[in-house]
Amino acid sequence: MRSSERSPGSIVDDLVLMIGDAGVLEGQDVSDRFDGWPPERALQARCIARPNSTEQVSKVLQYCNAAGLKVIPHGGRTGISGGARSGADDIVLSLERLNRIESVNPVDRTMTVDAGVPLATVQSAAQDHGMLYPVDIGARGSATIGGTIATNAGGTRVLRYGSTREQVLGLEAVLADGTIISSMNRLMKNNAGYDIKQLFIGTEGTLGIVTRAVLRLRSLSKSNATAFVGVASFDHVLKLLERLSVACADVLTSFEVMWPGFVELVIAHSTHRNPLSGFHKFCVLVETDGSTAEKALEETLGELLEHGAIDDAVIAQNARQAAEIWNVRDDATARAAAMKPNIHFDIGLPQSEMNAYVVNLRTTLKDTWPNAKLLVFGHLADGNLHINISVGVATEAMLAAVDRAVYEPLSAIGGTLAAEHGVGLLKRDYLALVRGPDEIALMRKLKNTLDPNETLNPGKVIPR
Ligand SMILES: Cc1cc2nc3c(=O)[nH]c(=O)nc-3n(C[C@H](O)[C@H](O)[C@H](O)COP(=O)(O)OP(=O)(O)OC[C@H]3O[C@@H](n4cnc5c(N)ncnc54)[C@H](O)[C@@H]3O)c2cc1C
Repeated sequence: MRSSERSPGSIVDDLVLMIGDAGVLEGQDVSDRFDGWPPERALQARCIARPNSTEQVSKVLQYCNAAGLKVIPHGGRTGISGGARSGADDIVLSLERLNRIESVNPVDRTMTVDAGVPLATVQSAAQDHGMLYPVDIGARGSATIGGTIATNAGGTRVLRYGSTREQVLGLEAVLADGTIISSMNRLMKNNAGYDIKQLFIGTEGTLGIVTRAVLRLRSLSKSNATAFVGVASFDHVLKLLERLSVACADVLTSFEVMWPGFVELVIAHSTHRNPLSGFHKFCVLVETDGSTAEKALEETLGELLEHGAIDDAVIAQNARQAAEIWNVRDDATARAAAMKPNIHFDIGLPQSEMNAYVVNLRTTLKDTWPNAKLLVFGHLADGNLHINISVGVATEAMLAAVDRAVYEPLSAIGGTLAAEHGVGLLKRDYLALVRGPDEIALMRKLKNTLDPNETLNPGKVIPR
């Protein structure tokens, strides 16, 4: 039905009259979508509102808040923690039509964008101007800037550039009652009062909907180097990191560790080639980025090989070889998917505790499920491990037991249950294992202050 044929009164008609025919999707256009990653569950919602300006976002929120409707913000739906899940009566608010790059300023090294612009589009716009937007994740083609801000996305370059939080200079957000908060700061330093943008970074759409952002750009390196290193033990992994952190201090960008069995699994089930001539207990992908990158890396790895601190290493000689090395690491997504049914965890913990934690977890799981499978890899230098676990076809009670086996030991070693993927719905009920009661009470107070009717993404992040 076209907007001219609609009459005020029904929720969907009201929204169409407010933001136009192209602004609202219903019926099969809703159920044909998935509600997150992996793309398994059909989206449920009364309709999808697709405003094309901050003012339209504000109108939709004002209306929904007054009518007692729940609003679930959607970016690219690549989130892994169930943060974008909705119910049949909810209004999904997708930022997909807020997709303009407003400006790139090479002098100030900033880019001003709408929240619905895909991450990959921002990366290539920066590159077109000889600059770098450093956040990089496997879902770059679909994940949006708004989604990466809402989840404070990390990725493979956090070690050098920090997570999304460090790339956002300013932003614009709309509160649950429709109030537009424009905090489009463009300065590196601005201590004039509270840093309001932080309320919306990493809060997963529970405090406001991000509609625009000012992003910080970096210099695009003239050279970089990618190496694949095999080592005999976890202690050697830590020594390699320690050595590279000194020798390549200014240029070390990625330090991705693959646990025993990871490379063997990738090579057995994919067309990727083993970058090394044999298999090793642990493998590490190292990337350096900067004018002195290749020389520093080559010298350090040569010296470590000579002293037996590493077993083998290869440095990519060209972009194709570098891509082949990354393909082995990035095949993790396909290997995890093949472990169906598979439970994915994104934990944070001190590097010194990592190996003992993984060994103990494996033992705990195998004691209960002798056929349990684990795939472990991670951004080790950021203290972040991704663990995929399969215990076969699992009941709700079995899944909860696996969750507890992973999460319960974390508090005692200073760990966290969400290093970069956020809490969403799937980790909400475990939050109290890693955050204190006063911290959670303050989160609830903030939520009640900014969104007293629980209009925005209700039931996510904060335990009930
Ligand atoms: C293959 C793959 C690899 C990944 N690798 C990484 C990785 O290395 N590091 C990492 O951190 N994550 C990673 N992720 C997770 C995911 O890509 C990120 O969480 C991403 O930031 C989500 O962006 P999105 O636009 O898809 O958001 P969505 O999935 O649509 O939403 C995620 C959350 O943000 C909220 N939200 C979305 N847009 C807005 C907005 N404009 N304002 C307010 N709230 C909003 C949603 O309500 C939801 O709670 C990966 C995912 C996949 C599928």
